Amino acid sequence: MKASKNPIMPRVEMPNQPPAERVRNFDEVALGYTLEMAKEEAARCLQCKKPKCVKGCPVEVPIPQFIAELAKGDVEKAYQVIKTTNSLPAVCGRVCPQEVQCEGSCILQAKGQPVAIGRLERFVADEFMYRDACGLITGKPECPYIDPEKKVACIGSGPASLTAAGYLAARGCKVTVFEALHELGGVLVYGIPEFRLPKEKIVAKEIGALRELEVEFVRNRVGGKTFSIQDLFDQGYKAVFIGVGAGLPRFLNIPGENLNGVFSANEYLTRVNLGRAYSFPDFDTPIIRGKRVTVYGGGNVAMDAARTAMRLGAESVHIVYRRTQAEMPARHEEIEHAIEEGVQVAELCGPLEFRADECGNLGSVLLQKMELGEPDESGRCRPVVVEGATEELPTDLAIIAVGTRSNPVLLENEPRLELNRWGYVQVDEETGETSIPDVYAGGDIVTGAATVILAMGAGRKAAKNIAAKLGCVVDD
Ligand code: FAD
Ligand code: SF4
Repeated sequence: MKASKNPIMPRVEMPNQPPAERVRNFDEVALGYTLEMAKEEAARCLQCKKPKCVKGCPVEVPIPQFIAELAKGDVEKAYQVIKTTNSLPAVCGRVCPQEVQCEGSCILQAKGQPVAIGRLERFVADEFMYRDACGLITGKPECPYIDPEKKVACIGSGPASLTAAGYLAARGCKVTVFEALHELGGVLVYGIPEFRLPKEKIVAKEIGALRELEVEFVRNRVGGKTFSIQDLFDQGYKAVFIGVGAGLPRFLNIPGENLNGVFSANEYLTRVNLGRAYSFPDFDTPIIRGKRVTVYGGGNVAMDAARTAMRLGAESVHIVYRRTQAEMPARHEEIEHAIEEGVQVAELCGPLEFRADECGNLGSVLLQKMELGEPDESGRCRPVVVEGATEELPTDLAIIAVGTRSNPVLLENEPRLELNRWGYVQVDEETGETSIPDVYAGGDIVTGAATVILAMGAGRKAAKNIAAKLGCVVDD
């Protein structure tokens, strides 16, 4: 098919499960394009000579090239092009905030409808999910020779480490990934719910592709407890990548926060996702199925917790947010989906106190009314207290999603590791190397809670430098 130059063609919509149906199940909400839809959307791309979309992608996927192949109907070639820089395209196509990255930079954004790059990436990746030949994994015709002497360890198995592992293995390094939990994938498996990112169908398959490149995965190993960084060098590893994320929840620090019925979003989502609490009685992980649920925060984590509570049978779910819906940092699509599913937003409210019911469990929350003031340093209007204006809202399950901090387990065990003033690992911005020679770090443990694609970009940057140091061919 010849690429159309007509920029006013509307974007091809992606079908979703209807809200009334999906709120009763944990199946994926977005259903994906068909080949015909994908080709039609691909034909909207202008094939810019200086494509702004690529600059907007932290792992620099050659976007126009893969879209050109797709527009011609050559899905296999399109997949190979994506795989030259992205080891997790089926994940990225689902959860990346494309509206502020590649699509936010697309030239057609000015007309209001950028090319649906994320949906196209997802379509191409899904088509190849069940193929595992090395050529399809690396974008090269044959599997690389894995040199057992070029041993690299990655600590943590989230997107930062998985990307580093994929890059290094494709260039002949022998990579071992050490993960503290019993399942691999980091936030992709314990945080982001099944209805946004299927675990078996997508995450496990993309990790499986890394196994093709002889990446070894060792679970239930806690860096800083069951082994130290020095142990790894003593075992012959030539370099170490730290990708342990920022999984320590922050709390509100208000009275009543230790009542039965108050959860951190991390614990709530981990019980539901990793512990499969939604699948009772097949899994008997305990969870509170709140009737009147309140969620505190306005990011992706808050949306995921709220939508999960709806699926677990809540009669009402309120997202309590100090600003208005317009200032929420969550992806627009997630906010829209949550509202379609019946989640309500209690705007301009901040929690003052959790109160107990007659049995001593969580019964209500006292909310402080706010109004918007002048913009703060983030550019968003500051929430300002409206003196004397409070409201009590009944709630039997409160989920706190106001951010996370670095988990100290590994960091405390390694005093040579320099941290910044917020407690995250300090790295050389050019290389990703830490204060310990040959030890690199990237992802949330360096930046604080951020995004999948930024973690992947950091994993790739560090891996490039490790590969160069180990004498591998670094061709891009
Ligand atoms: P993580 O994904 O946190 O992985 C770190 C891994 O290291 C974990 O598996 C952990 O168990 C392991 N680990 C920790 N300590 C040790 C140790 N001492 N030894 C061994 N292993 C260890 N981003 C988006 O782009 N889009 C979204 O839609 C989105 N939604 C999100 C929803 C939720 C609920 C959450 C919590 C986050 C979301 N994010 C989203 C953010 C994104 O998931 C993270 O930015 C990203 O996963 C960070 O990747 P990472 O590899 O740095 O760390
Ligand atoms: Fe295509 Fe948009 Fe990239 Fe131009 S900026 S090449 S139109 S996706």
